[in-house]
Order: sequence, then C-alpha cells, then structure tokens
Amino acid sequence: MAYRSSWMTDDIASFSEQFRRYLQTELAPHAMRWREEKMVDRSAWRGLGDMGALLCSVPEEYGGMGLSFAWDAAVMQELETWLPEMATGVSVHSVITAHYINAYGTHEQKLKWLPKMAKGEWVGAIAMTEPGAGSDLQGVRTTARRDGDHYVINGAKTFITNGQLADIIVCVVKTDPAKGSKGISLVVIETEGAEGFRRGRNLDKIGLNASDTSELFFDELRVPVANLLGDGEGQGFVQLMQQLPQERLGLSIQAIAAIERSVAITTEYVKERKAFGKSLLDFQNTAFKLAERKTEATIGRVFIDHCIERLIAGDLDTVTASMAKHWVTDKQSQTADECLQLHGGYGYMQEYEISRRYIDARIQRIYGGTNEIMKLVISRSL
Ligand SMILES: Cc1cc2nc3c(=O)[nH]c(=O)nc-3n(C[C@H](O)[C@H](O)[C@H](O)COP(=O)(O)OP(=O)(O)OC[C@H]3O[C@@H](n4cnc5c(N)ncnc54)[C@H](O)[C@@H]3O)c2cc1C
Repeated sequence: MAYRSSWMTDDIASFSEQFRRYLQTELAPHAMRWREEKMVDRSAWRGLGDMGALLCSVPEEYGGMGLSFAWDAAVMQELETWLPEMATGVSVHSVITAHYINAYGTHEQKLKWLPKMAKGEWVGAIAMTEPGAGSDLQGVRTTARRDGDHYVINGAKTFITNGQLADIIVCVVKTDPAKGSKGISLVVIETEGAEGFRRGRNLDKIGLNASDTSELFFDELRVPVANLLGDGEGQGFVQLMQQLPQERLGLSIQAIAAIERSVAITTEYVKERKAFGKSLLDFQNTAFKLAERKTEATIGRVFIDHCIERLIAGDLDTVTASMAKHWVTDKQSQTADECLQLHGGYGYMQEYEISRRYIDARIQRIYGGTNEIMKLVISRSL
C-alpha cells in the first residue's frame, strides 16, 4: 500500500492537487526564464497569494488562512516538486519571515504587514547574515541607535534571499552593542521610499538561480521605534532561537520532496533509456542504486512527517529539527549526485531536471545554519 503522511488529510490532498495543477500550467512554464533572469516575476507572488498558498498558518484576522502548519508543509512540498525555482523564496517569506511577525508582533503590526504578505503584494525577507557574521550571529555589527521615536540603522547584510524584491525585511540589529547576544533585536524595515536603504548586487550563484540573493546596505536609515518586534529591546537572539525549529523543518520539507522527485524522474529515465539491448533499470547496479535511494527516501519521509506532526503539536525541539535538517539535506545532495550519474551525459545537461536538482541541492547544506552547526547543536545535547 502506498504510504500516506498522517498529516495529509483529504482536504489538504485535494488542495495540493489543485495547487499542483496551477503550478504546472501557470507558473512552471516561466521557470527557465526566471533562472536566466535570476529572479521570479512579481506577479507569481500574487498568483500564489490568490491560490491561498502564502501564510497558510497565520490567523485569518491577519490575512492568513488560519490553518495548521500541515498546509504550509503541503505548499512547500508541491513547490519543491513542481516549481523548485520558488520554493526557497516562499519558505523565507511564508514559513520564516511572516512567523517572526506573527509570533512577536503587536496586533497593530500584524494588521499592517501580514495581510499584504498573505496576498503576495509584499515580498518578505529575513536579514541575519553579514559579511563578517554568518554561523556566529552574535557577531552581527549592524546597529540600531535610538533617536527619539526612531532607530537609526547602519550596517550591511549579505546573502539575503528575496533581497531584490523585498518590501518588508525582518532585520537582525544590535540595539546595544556592548551587551553581546543580549543586545540583539529584530526591527522591521519597510523598503518603499526608505532613505538610507540600498540593495546591492543580485549575487551570482552556482545554483538556485531563479532565487534572488542580495547584499543590503543601511546608511543612517530611520525606522520608527514602533517597528521593533517584541516587548522591548534585546530579545532578538531568543526570538531567533525560538523560530529555528520551524525554519529548519521548512528546509527539510524541501529536501525530502527533492529526494522523492529525483528518485521518481530517474526511475522513469532508466526504464526508458536502453544500452546493450536492455533498459538501464535491467542492470543490477542501476536497480540496486535506486533501491537504496528509494529506501532512504522512505526513511527520510517518515522522520520528516514525525517532525511535522511534532511542530503542529507545538513540541518540535531544536535538536530534533537540526537532526532532520543535516541528515535530509546531506541525503538530498547524495541522491541528486547518484541520480545524475544514472542519467549519464544527459544528467550533465541543464535541460534535464536532474542537473538542476544537483546544483540546487548544494546550498541546502549551507543556509539555515550549516550542517556542521546542526551537528554542534545535536552534540551539545548528548
Ligand atoms: C543562496 C543563499 C541564500 C541565503 N539566504 C539567507 C537569508 O535569506 N537570510 C540570511 O540571513 N542569510 C542567508 N544566507 C546566509 C547563510 O545562512 C550563511 O551563509 C550560513 O549561515 C553560513 O554562514 P557563512 O557563510 O558566514 O559561513 P561561516 O560561518 O564563515 O562558515 C564557514 C564554514 O565554517 C564552518 N563553521 C563555522 N563555525 C563552526 C563551528 N563552530 N564548528 C564547526 N564548523 C564551523 C561552517 O559550517 C562552514 O562550513 C544565505 C546564503 C546563501 C548562499
């Protein structure tokens, strides 16, 4: 019997089917152009908003769908399978940025920002990383100096997903540089007409080419004090830590969907392709490789489903989420590599999906906390 995730209710399954058709017919035909242009069309964001695919687990009062995280998981799964070009951007927007605002924003802040994000009118980004601070976030140097009713922000961020399009950015700043991690706060920046805010280059990456990744610069940028997230300054580090399980699970959901897709397209390919008078699948090496990959995909799926259920129940801890993130993203890279090999020379051609899955998989082991940092987190719990 085919395995079905326990969180995949009939309602979610029927939404997924409808959403899949929309992605396949309306958006996927643009994917290769987006890769060339290194950016997704803004209209695609509004399309996802119209489909009810953004901010699924944000309350209806704030423009979301008021549903459980299972719906976000279904959206991420369909995107990664049929339109991976948008998966990371949507994860940052819907699964990460919106949830900082939902978790720590005041009623007024949520009313102001979340409905626009839910409709896809506004694109969201989260700006933590700086040229001098990636894994070690306590080292961020962007400052927010209080001046009356405003913060004056100075500094630079890099590698920011959705940075070119972002209308709203949750930015990690130091409100008190002398206090180390206790001096970190999250401040929301609205980018339209913001004097002192500048987007740098859309960075030239080796993969994930449709997802824009940018430098951002702040030069005496004035942001109202009312844009601080949370009850007072200095809570940013704790807020970041609290959101990690959901952020890491989002990436893990992408990874398992990518693994399943790689195995599926490769199985199809090796059944069709002939060598030495038989299908590639008839060679024992091919069949055994795919048997191993399929087994790992099933193990990964069961573990990720367990994590999804725990997140929905509100008790997914950072250690378990870190196990999921490092294991399944490592497997994603290995699977893409093995599956590319089974395609032979065609696997190296960009027109074959497996080649794109191979290059896009690589980043998954780096962002969202590197896989080494995941192991550090797990090892501290031993
Ligand atoms: C395409 C892309 C999109 C991204 N999107 C975003 C985004 O939207 N927002 C955002 O804020 N950031 C984003 N990032 C940044 C990403 O999260 C960081 O690159 C990542 O956290 C690693 O930081 P770093 O690049 O500074 O590497 P470093 O921290 O310098 O790490 C370099 C190497 O050292 C290892 N290392 C570091 N510390 C330790 C340790 N204590 N023990 C063992 N090994 C260690 C790392 O694992 C890594 O292998 C993105 C990056 C990319 C490439």
